[in-house]
Amino acid sequence: MKFGGTSVGNIDRIKNVAKIVKKSVDQGNSVVVAVSAMAGVTNELQKKAENISKNFNPEDCDLLLSSGEQVSTALLSGALNEIKIKAKTLMCWQIPIVTEGKHTNSRIISVNTDIIKKFLNQNFVVVIPGFQGINEQLRINTLGRGGSDASAVALAKCLNAVRCEIFTDVDGIFTTNPDVNSKAKKIDKISYDEMLEMSSLGAKVMQTSSVQSAMLNNIEVYVKSSFKNTDGTAIINQNKISYDKVITGVAFTKDDAKITLQGVKDKPGVASSIFKPLYENNIVVDMIVQNISADKLKTDITFTVKRSDFERTNSIMKSLIKNLDYEKIISNDKVSKVSVIGAGMITYPGVAYKMFDSLYKENINILAITTSEIKISVLIDEINVENAVNKLHSVFDLD
Ligand code: ADP
Ligand code: ASP
Ligand code: MG
Repeated sequence: MKFGGTSVGNIDRIKNVAKIVKKSVDQGNSVVVAVSAMAGVTNELQKKAENISKNFNPEDCDLLLSSGEQVSTALLSGALNEIKIKAKTLMCWQIPIVTEGKHTNSRIISVNTDIIKKFLNQNFVVVIPGFQGINEQLRINTLGRGGSDASAVALAKCLNAVRCEIFTDVDGIFTTNPDVNSKAKKIDKISYDEMLEMSSLGAKVMQTSSVQSAMLNNIEVYVKSSFKNTDGTAIINQNKISYDKVITGVAFTKDDAKITLQGVKDKPGVASSIFKPLYENNIVVDMIVQNISADKLKTDITFTVKRSDFERTNSIMKSLIKNLDYEKIISNDKVSKVSVIGAGMITYPGVAYKMFDSLYKENINILAITTSEIKISVLIDEINVENAVNKLHSVFDLD
């Protein structure tokens, strides 16, 4: 069972979480709980680091950010003890949960379950801080924002758990972010592929890497409310779902930036020379569109990056104007991506037309388009996002 930040956001809520855990124990389950930091705590810690330095050492940043989960772990254990449930806390290094990769964005590679199982066998509920692990150099790592979901899925996998339950502040996965569209509906079942698209395209209700890990390991995940005792959403294999809708959900991001290089020489090696320096500077590129060159001499290349990488990307591109041989750079950091996602579209024609026509009717201009088998994404001006989301939600019969 994993409880997110809002679910452990204050003392009463932690007491409520203890009751939910007790109920599961009373039903005969052995329970391992992963907790997030209390709501807002990780943001506050991050702000403190930024106020100290713009170049705060990532290793120390991990040490700092991971501390929020330690607090909620201890508090939940105390709350469980208070209602006569035996609980044992384990920090990631005591298990250990081993991670690899970059500080502030690492991934779990193994969990030694011996000590967890020992306590489970002694009828303890084991409470573990989410969002962290230790690397081979015994340094604390964190798993990227929202990473407690990844901790829960990794624990479920390594413990061969019967269920992985993600308790949060909404009733489950909705057809779109319910904060933005009040007509959003809870989805009962969603496939791993769809959820992976939804979360990577902006529905941060589940962290993307946790969905990927659940999919690769075939772990059924149930997302539900910690405030209401209702069925949530099952994230499961596509063959267990029958589709009566073409589109399952609409997702959006609000942190994109677009860069267009105009008049780039149309010759082999150009794309490679544009994206090499971005790779060397660790900048992740998302959408890429290259126009067909009408005169076979020059073309335009547009790509998007996270807004936080915008300034860096812009200056790298400007510094390369001679080498890359392009005429003009046009940048815009107020763009957003809106996507429709649904395994139903594989067998249903006309989804792209319906999407583009609906946006046209709202007078929304499309700046770039990308597709996969089960999603279509468009880049639009950020100012139009909510209008686009609501329109698509209604046109695709999700209201
Ligand atoms: P937790 O702290 O429990 O991990 P998060 O804030 O990470 O919770 O995720 C839950 C939030 O995700 C919701 O409150 C909602 O604002 C947002 N969200 C975005 N898209 C969706 C969606 N499609 N369905 C449900 N929630 C969504
Ligand atoms: N506390 C971390 C965050 O806010 C991890 C999590 O909540 O999943 O990103
Ligand atoms: Mg979360």
